[in-house]
Amino acid sequence: MRNIPPDTSRFPEKYAAIFRAVPDRLAKQRLLTPPISDVDHAPPEARTQRRRLRACHECDWVSALPPLKPGEKANCPRCGYTLVRRHRYPAQRSMALAITALIALIAAISFPFVSFNVSGVSNRIELTQTATTLIGFDQPLVAIAVIMTIVVLPAVYLMGVIWLQFGLLRDSPLPFSRDIARSLSHLAPWLMADVFIIGALVSLIKIASMAQVELGVSFWAFCAFAVLLIATTQSLDADWMWFSLDDGEPLAPKGTRTATTAAAQNLAGCHTCGLINPMPAQAKKARCIRCHEPLHNRIPHSLQRTWALIIAATVMYIPANLYPIMITTSLGDSSPSTIIGGVVELAQMGSWPIAAVIFIASVIVPVGKLVALVWLCLVVARSNEINARKRTVLYRITEFIGRWSMVDVFVVAILVALIRAGSLMSITPGPAALAFGAVVVLTMLAAMTFDPRLIWDTPPPRYSGNVDD
Ligand SMILES: [Zn+2]
Ligand SMILES: [Zn+2]
Repeated sequence: MRNIPPDTSRFPEKYAAIFRAVPDRLAKQRLLTPPISDVDHAPPEARTQRRRLRACHECDWVSALPPLKPGEKANCPRCGYTLVRRHRYPAQRSMALAITALIALIAAISFPFVSFNVSGVSNRIELTQTATTLIGFDQPLVAIAVIMTIVVLPAVYLMGVIWLQFGLLRDSPLPFSRDIARSLSHLAPWLMADVFIIGALVSLIKIASMAQVELGVSFWAFCAFAVLLIATTQSLDADWMWFSLDDGEPLAPKGTRTATTAAAQNLAGCHTCGLINPMPAQAKKARCIRCHEPLHNRIPHSLQRTWALIIAATVMYIPANLYPIMITTSLGDSSPSTIIGGVVELAQMGSWPIAAVIFIASVIVPVGKLVALVWLCLVVARSNEINARKRTVLYRITEFIGRWSMVDVFVVAILVALIRAGSLMSITPGPAALAFGAVVVLTMLAAMTFDPRLIWDTPPPRYSGNVDD
């Protein structure tokens, strides 16, 4: 097999110098594999014989990626975090899914979403009206949150995936591919089409007893879109993608040891592309040599920022419960309902499952999330190897469930747009909608700024490695 010197032309000058310093060694070690024609058709481990090291995102443990077959995944041996998940034909797969999802989204915004009829007065809405109607009721922020999370960001995400995979499939990445690859991981938590579906079902069941409801073509198209969007996000193989973008990957710095933490060796694992980078003296300006994402040994001021966001979310949770989330006007009689009031009302009407969904999404999830984060922040300094794993699992659950609280905000958006029959029956949004939306966003940000690696920091690594300080 032919050895070639590493291609440093794609790296900025200061990083290129790192590679130029040891060209022979790198060439010998086959740092970058020669370009091959079917670039995306072989997994990274088939294209390099070097051990590819990764630092776990959640516990910072350095381990070597094993060769993976399609359908297999590599988990961190210390905390169980999934480092890499391998798919068969990842580029073709995610591109096909993204194109189908985009077509479903176009169908979802082009046809009527749902219609209702009460005593001869009927109204038919399109998907985007769930956001635009809110602007008419002086709720522009909630409107922006709704349209961004269900249409704009998913569309941007899907187009990004198509752009990226198209370039990879024709063996030459299109311009901006790296920037797009980097932004995809940041966008993913904010795509809420699946949550919106639950919101739509809740709203429809809620009004089914009062009015006649008919589902439009767009509703089914949107259901298909939500499923395809999840499938697209799941199909992305970031490891394969970043490896293919460069036809290889730079090795971890010489002397990097496994079975210890990256921080103990003055290294940092990139959160976006996974590469292990040396941390320069000025750690504040450190960026990944492959994807240029800022690098941190630990998220700076993680606990302080998490505390600040927890406090802000707790403060916002008070008006979210005190003020009405929506005001129902029926035959000239208007009755405001708070989140809890709505749950009680639904339970009294006998809609127990819907009451339970709203109660879990609007009370249990946000409160549970805040309590879990407060507890994690308090005990983080007293963790040990035995309880750290359980605490990391708690953190993962906290991070995963956060977005599901948006259900109630979506319910308000749908009902406000749909129930427009003047004094006969109409629903207007209350001030709690904005406050509650803020709680959801703030708790999501709090979970993102909490650095789970801190849970693992108190027990000192078993091997001290090449400590530089
Ligand atoms: Zn780990
Ligand atoms: Zn990176």
